[in-house]
Amino acid sequence: MAVAGSVRVRLAPSPTGTLHIGTARTAVFNWLFARHHGGTFLLRIEDTDRERSKEEYTANILEGLHWLGLDWDGDPVIQSERIEAHRVAIAQLLASGHAYRCYANEAELTAMRELQQAENRAPRYDNRHRDLSPEQVRAYIAEGREAVIRFRIDDGAVITWHDLVRGEMRWSGSDLGGDMVIARRAAADQIGDPLYNLVVVVDDAAMAISHVIRGEDHIANTAKQLLLYAALGHTAPVFAHTPLILNQEGKKLSKRDGVTSISDFQSMGYSAEALVNYMTLLGWSPPESMGERFSLEQAAAVFDFARVNRAGARFDWDKLNWLNGQVLHGLGAEALRQQLQPLWAAKGWGAQGPSADAEWQRQLCELLAPSLTLLADGVEQATPLFTRPDPDAAALAQLASDGARPAVAALLALLPEGCEELSVEQAQSLLAQAASQAGVKKGVLMKSLRAALLGSLQGPDLVASWRLLHRSGEDRLRLQSSSTMP
Ligand code: GLU
Repeated sequence: MAVAGSVRVRLAPSPTGTLHIGTARTAVFNWLFARHHGGTFLLRIEDTDRERSKEEYTANILEGLHWLGLDWDGDPVIQSERIEAHRVAIAQLLASGHAYRCYANEAELTAMRELQQAENRAPRYDNRHRDLSPEQVRAYIAEGREAVIRFRIDDGAVITWHDLVRGEMRWSGSDLGGDMVIARRAAADQIGDPLYNLVVVVDDAAMAISHVIRGEDHIANTAKQLLLYAALGHTAPVFAHTPLILNQEGKKLSKRDGVTSISDFQSMGYSAEALVNYMTLLGWSPPESMGERFSLEQAAAVFDFARVNRAGARFDWDKLNWLNGQVLHGLGAEALRQQLQPLWAAKGWGAQGPSADAEWQRQLCELLAPSLTLLADGVEQATPLFTRPDPDAAALAQLASDGARPAVAALLALLPEGCEELSVEQAQSLLAQAASQAGVKKGVLMKSLRAALLGSLQGPDLVASWRLLHRSGEDRLRLQSSSTMP
């Protein structure tokens, strides 16, 4: 679809928690849309909830977005620094009669709600202070009552918009819960802390946001915000409400589902590339020719809201794991080495000796790559190459089996001195010779060699592992200790 004018979108996270997968997926769609149209992707930190907002969450959100490759344009806007603009807008709404002070106290509001409940009516503010007389206002002030500021929402209002995902939308003013609080309770001559719907509209207008792309849990807010745009005399942006991410049971994915923070996925060993690829698929169907594995740039080239589904998107670990494996398999030895090296270093591996050699590490990466799902597998599976393993029960049984020890001893005797590179051909011919000298099948020797070198009957390619261990003379040491084992 052609988009008139320049595209300016924003992500508006609240720093009341770490970067959630839902927010990150909203960021992905904003980023793709902005980049597709050569537009601008802005970031606004919505930190007006002073009690729950934390600097560390802001840092986590910025780091997470950056890690995912979702870079934003310019400096983030800090919402709390814009409070004067929010107050000015509220004063404007008070002056124009769109807003008023409501002096109802907690006890009165509770009684109102209890009555509604008893009568089986939906809870809503009954607009009781909308048209107070000057005398009533004076009386409340004389009583020392504080006031919230409410924005008038006429029951008869009909709010419509064209949503880029959901098509024609229509809301009735009577479904919005009555006149909405836009500023918290404060002394009657003050404007208390401005609240979400008001500040979002003021900021989106000030930032000249052309398209608001956010989760469908904000649809009712959009209806309220459209009324605020009109009352403040601003042109409203275009809206796109993206489907929710669902868990296996089809419910909205929440903290109770365990891993939901981007930093959790990161520490579990998912690559940013796979995660961002996966999030793009959560609600967007790429053109068939693209397959499911692509970069952000490739997705941006074709991104379009026409391909965003209305139905919720079920989170699928198998697909994420598959994509992560695809990314790791396709990295190439050097790029994989660069990602694994810090994890190995954290274990104290590869700091000195032959295993510190970049070429040795690249060969190890080639060996590991085909069986990796998570980056962390490249630590687990590399363990017997960096450290001498304790043979497991199956390996011990193999080494104790008929012909095993003589075969290993024969191989040891044939092993060239020193740590020169052992070629694949050399390795194969040594195996053939040793097996024939010991009078066992080559298969028996191979199994025993695996048990001796890697301490297990499962694991990476045997000859490639052997060649790596040969470079440090580890093959000799491990064969010696298994051939002399009691
Ligand atoms: N701070 C809001 C949130 O995190 C922003 C919603 C919006 O994009 O307007 O849900």
